[in-house]
Amino acid sequence: MKISTYLIIFFIILLFALGFVLGYNQNPNATKFQNENNKFIDHNERQIYEERQIGITDQQETKNNIVFGTKTDNETESEKAPDVEYYKKAKVLQNLYPDTFIMNHQTFEKKIALTFDDGPDGKTTPRILDTLKEYNVTATFFVLGKNVKLYPKIVNRMINEGHQVANHSWSHLRPTELSLEEFLLEIDSAEEILQNYINRLEFFYYRPPYGLLTPEQIEEINYKGYKIISWSIDSLDWNVSEPEKIQDKVISSVHPGAIILMHSAGGKDQREGTIKALPGIIENLTKQGYEFVTVHNLINEI
Ligand SMILES: [Zn+2]
Repeated sequence: MKISTYLIIFFIILLFALGFVLGYNQNPNATKFQNENNKFIDHNERQIYEERQIGITDQQETKNNIVFGTKTDNETESEKAPDVEYYKKAKVLQNLYPDTFIMNHQTFEKKIALTFDDGPDGKTTPRILDTLKEYNVTATFFVLGKNVKLYPKIVNRMINEGHQVANHSWSHLRPTELSLEEFLLEIDSAEEILQNYINRLEFFYYRPPYGLLTPEQIEEINYKGYKIISWSIDSLDWNVSEPEKIQDKVISSVHPGAIILMHSAGGKDQREGTIKALPGIIENLTKQGYEFVTVHNLINEI
């Protein structure tokens, strides 16, 4: 063969080798997560992934330019992991306001908080309360002011059975689409009715509908003395109805200090999935040595 043929073969091999090296080095984690259908098995793994995704530059950019939690964002979220987009944005807020925007409690103790949003109602919430009573487990209910007005007896039952009740706004409007005045009215109206039920010490806890706020709203609510309670584990019970899937999501992501998002009202089938998933979640996590506490007790280490 001519020398030029050798040269051509040599360059072809060189190009393949170069392509392989570049391809291999490209964000190996991203590939790994795609392969796992964006299902995070390990909490630490997820933490590392999220921190890498956000970075310090993105934090500033997000604070200045991005409208948090718009409807468009939700529509474009991946079907397989609809919570990933939320975690990215929530982590930015947590980093900006570590004492006010709380996703979990840093601890080595095996204590976790189950939280149930959107109640009370007359059907689902009582069944959730029955299960919690059966297992002698306390939880936190982020309630809507308008539902408190409709079902006062259920709120009394929550309090009497040792659960924490907290503010989830009056009518579940999306805060990031409201003016500051409208946003504060939603919180204040719920606050007014909740004053009849909640003891002062456990009062100033708020969970935003859909989970996100603008920096201006966070600063305002911090000024009022509230802590904003997000979550570190989304059970996805608003998105899937199979109890096994809800159980798997919670059990596979559990970690000390976790705040777990579930729902005690709303949904097409009265949260049948949540009701059926709950006993298995409690049994499994109790076996693993976890203790269920209210959000107030978790973050104050009571
Ligand atoms: Zn809600």
